[in-house]
Amino acid sequence: MTQMLFPLPSLPRRKRVKRMHVADAGHLPGGAQKGIRFVCSHCGYDTGWIQDTRSISDNRKGLPCPACNP
Ligand SMILES: [Zn+2]
Repeated sequence: MTQMLFPLPSLPRRKRVKRMHVADAGHLPGGAQKGIRFVCSHCGYDTGWIQDTRSISDNRKGLPCPACNP
């Protein structure tokens, strides 16, 4: 059996950020501005419709949930 060079528990790990994912996206009512809505699958937090200022690929990554990541 080989010995671990670094014991696993001592490895520094970044705390996992819980992210909200896109629930819906489109145009805000009456305007030309894009809107987007994120929902957290962990706690159910819902941002409601907010102005979408980010790129599609950024939106796909999700947003950190303000309720799960205090
Ligand atoms: Zn959450």
